[in-house]
Amino acid sequence: MNINVNNELENVKSGRIDMKYPCTEKHCNKKFCRKDSLTRHHRLVHLNKTSRFNRRIAKDNIQ
Ligand SMILES: [Zn+2]
Repeated sequence: MNINVNNELENVKSGRIDMKYPCTEKHCNKKFCRKDSLTRHHRLVHLNKTSRFNRRIAKDNIQ
């Protein structure tokens, strides 16, 4: 059951997977190979007001 997951991890490490889902938020240059990873990142980081990312934005007053 985990074979595909492991293969994907190996592919990411070795650069064989395109990171074709870039985060579109300002000041965030993360990229993801899967859309659900991007969706999860967006929810955890950008929709979470107290995430490290949002606290840094607030602290630095980045527009
Ligand atoms: Zn992001």
